[in-house]
Amino acid sequence: MLTNLSHDEKKRLAAIELLKADEHDRDEILGRMTRLTGKTLGIATSFIAILDGDTQYLKAPYALPAPVTETRREDAFCLTAVAADDITVCADMRLDPRFRDNPFVRGAPYVRFYAGAPLRSRDGVIIGTLCLIDIQPRLFTSEQIATLRIMAGLVSAFLEAWHNIGYIDAVTLLPNRQRLMNDLRLLQTPGAVRRYRLMLFDCIDMPFAYEIARSLGMTVVEDMLRDMATLLRLKLEWHDTLYSVATGRYAVIMDDDSPIPPAELNDHLAGLSAHINTQINIDLHISAGYVGFAPGELDPTEILRRAVSALHDAIGRKKRVMAYDAASDARQKEDFRLLNDFYPYLHGKPGLYLVFQPKIALRNGRVTGLEALIRWQHPALGNITPDRFIPLLEKTTLMAALTDWVINAALDQVKQWSAKGIHLPVSINVGVSDLSRPHFADALAEKITARGLPPALLGIECLETERVLESAEALHGLERLKQRGFTISLDDFGTGYSNIGYLRKMPLDIIKLDRSLIKTLTTDKASHTIVSHVISMLKALDYTVLAEGVEDAGTFTSLRALGCDEVQGFYHSPPLTAAHLETWLGHYQTAHG
Ligand code: C2E
Ligand code: CA
Ligand code: CA
Repeated sequence: MLTNLSHDEKKRLAAIELLKADEHDRDEILGRMTRLTGKTLGIATSFIAILDGDTQYLKAPYALPAPVTETRREDAFCLTAVAADDITVCADMRLDPRFRDNPFVRGAPYVRFYAGAPLRSRDGVIIGTLCLIDIQPRLFTSEQIATLRIMAGLVSAFLEAWHNIGYIDAVTLLPNRQRLMNDLRLLQTPGAVRRYRLMLFDCIDMPFAYEIARSLGMTVVEDMLRDMATLLRLKLEWHDTLYSVATGRYAVIMDDDSPIPPAELNDHLAGLSAHINTQINIDLHISAGYVGFAPGELDPTEILRRAVSALHDAIGRKKRVMAYDAASDARQKEDFRLLNDFYPYLHGKPGLYLVFQPKIALRNGRVTGLEALIRWQHPALGNITPDRFIPLLEKTTLMAALTDWVINAALDQVKQWSAKGIHLPVSINVGVSDLSRPHFADALAEKITARGLPPALLGIECLETERVLESAEALHGLERLKQRGFTISLDDFGTGYSNIGYLRKMPLDIIKLDRSLIKTLTTDKASHTIVSHVISMLKALDYTVLAEGVEDAGTFTSLRALGCDEVQGFYHSPPLTAAHLETWLGHYQTAHG
């Protein structure tokens, strides 16, 4: 029964299984090694003995006096060498109480001499013995013992290397991900009750590593990766195998009841650094994620996937260590599902539509324009808000396709309204990825011209200010839009970025004050003071100022008193479908002359 075996014992049995199996090329090399051993030491016969539960297998035999391929375990000479855990030599077996009753000594082929050296795996476990026998008694000098030890070392190293081909990470020389998967598989035995933990460590920020490689060369990065593995092992003081599963990512399988609770890893992993050269050290920001599992309960791929999920949670939330969290994993899966589902909607599947929210001039109560906002009706998940799916799309090329969809839908609507005598400009929201597209402004201008509309009927709301400011392409894209005659609004002013000197770097017409800035305008005096100064300053700089998210009459009146130009918000109207907007517009215009 394998259920109660230690991890090492399982590794040993797995190694024995591998060695027992016939493998032509490997066995031929082993054959040459046993022959060389016999010849060098001047002993007639040599072979490799492998022991399992009840059988001894003779592998790569050279000049056996009888055609034996396996024997009963209890008749194996090498039991003595295994028990002694060292080289065992018997000059004359007939005179030795350990061997004299052995059937191969008492009967044919009447073996008289035995020398056996244990073969060890890298973990130190004995997986077989390199044996020499003779049908005559022999003296075996200490020099011969030393040679036998060397030969056994060579055979062990050969076997290790042979079985590790494809299982070793070439840079760190640690066992790799394939090996980890195999080892996880080895833990799976029917009825296993023990729980384990797979822990993953992320030690390097890949973009930074590429920067280093770019300026100092790949060797420096490879040295760093090796340093990291060593440091990790030293710091953690674990004896479990460390695997290298991806560049800068390491893994350990440990008992789930291991003495180092994950929380304590914090102290262990803090303050580590790796050398770039003699002068420069870089701080390692190590994150770890782990998952507990009972072998057999999950397959190895799923175990690793969960550990990766935990690791990414830790990295994403800037935590040192995080356990696998099913809820967060489910959300991640749903994100992926949404992303996957989205594509057909961009190509005609019904479910995407625009809603429009009016913007009102405070001076005269007129509607100055509309903001187009995307909506997605999912057949199973219902109405999904843009805050939920746009951040997902932004990481993909689908974002450009969505913006194009919005542009076409908005322009088609503007055209329809124009035909009905409604001449209101519509603004669309664009982020850094759109603004950075080389021909974005030209393509937009072409689409407007193709519909016979003036550019003044389309406005651009610029999202992601900080990222736009960091991108020369995006800033350039904004300039081109401005040159083409589009009105540019800066969205979400008052969130994030606090240095307002940047405003002059962007060609802006309208500044949209974020709702967070104005929502306590009537209840908080300090907020009133801030908004008042912000509006004065923006007006002094000649911007049109629009306040977003105005929900009540009090805020509306205050903003008017403070000299704000326009408002947008639930107080006047939520975003509406085109048809509803027309109705709203009819009512509003009747009421406001
Ligand atoms: P945003 O551009 O700041 O849009 C304003 C958001 O505030 C809209 O949310 C709108 O429905 C909501 N809102 C309007 N009035 C009020 C109010 O009085 N009170 C409150 N609490 N909220 C109000 P929505 O439509 O969910 O859009 C959220 C964000 O998603 C937008 O923020 C924008 O950043 C993004 N987004 C929406 N449509 C698009 C699009 O077509 N393209 C891109 N790139 N982003 C879009
Ligand atoms: Ca907006
Ligand atoms: Ca906004």
